[in-house]
Amino acid sequence: MIKDLIMPYFVVAGNKQRQKIDSMPGIYRLSADNLLLELAELTELGIDNILLFGLPKRKDENGSEAYAKDGVVQNAVRAIKKSFPKLIVMTDVCLCAYTTDGHCRAGNTLEALVKIARSHAEAGADYVAPSAMMKGQVRAIREALGNKVKILAYSAKFASGFYGPFREAAKSAPAFGERRAYQLDYQRSDEALERIAVEIKEGADIVMIKPALAYLDIIFQAKQKFNFTIAAYNVSGEYAMLYGNKGMILESLSAIKRAGADLIITYFSKEVGQWTKDLHRQKNI
Ligand SMILES: [Zn+2]
Repeated sequence: MIKDLIMPYFVVAGNKQRQKIDSMPGIYRLSADNLLLELAELTELGIDNILLFGLPKRKDENGSEAYAKDGVVQNAVRAIKKSFPKLIVMTDVCLCAYTTDGHCRAGNTLEALVKIARSHAEAGADYVAPSAMMKGQVRAIREALGNKVKILAYSAKFASGFYGPFREAAKSAPAFGERRAYQLDYQRSDEALERIAVEIKEGADIVMIKPALAYLDIIFQAKQKFNFTIAAYNVSGEYAMLYGNKGMILESLSAIKRAGADLIITYFSKEVGQWTKDLHRQKNI
């Protein structure tokens, strides 16, 4: 289980930053220096994968810090790869945390997504994770970057009530309107499977289903149908719901695995790593 977990992190500019997130107890926004300290603990627990979200110094209309060479994610990735060369670093590729209106799309979005992906890959990211649900996003990145970087595609991202706490964490709540227009309708499963099929064809290395717990049927169907590497995102609302209850956490993560997820992106990764370590220690006494 440990090797299948991906721990998400929120990275902010500056030094010595460790900002509490009220709706996500135990999770912090960290500056790169503190993130490195955190990763020393994480890697010690045997967790090999992280997914990074950036909070820019400044937002603007076009979300230009998202593809700046010295942007918050780009700087963090370079620092991480220097200290932890074997850690698999995945980066979220979107505009919503960088645009003043908080939407995933601005101007020529596909072009912007490619620019973001390129800057992350140049900084050393192993995987880029386009999350704007923009048609053609995987193909555009694959065509522009070839095999320089792997792609974790947010292929089936549902319009969900479980994203609330994340928006506080990433300060990415839309200033107006909703993202439902480009996220999937949870009353339908056919569209999700179609999007997954398309993004596999476009060159994704891993396809993701998000959220996880209310979508176990989609995970199961996708695994049966495509027999492809599937990641499930155990999102912030699921985290908040299960927080503090070890039994419920392990049961839920097992259900996600059982449904067919090869990888689970979960804020519980570190905690599960700690529990696993404690268990081994007890056995050895
Ligand atoms: Zn977005």
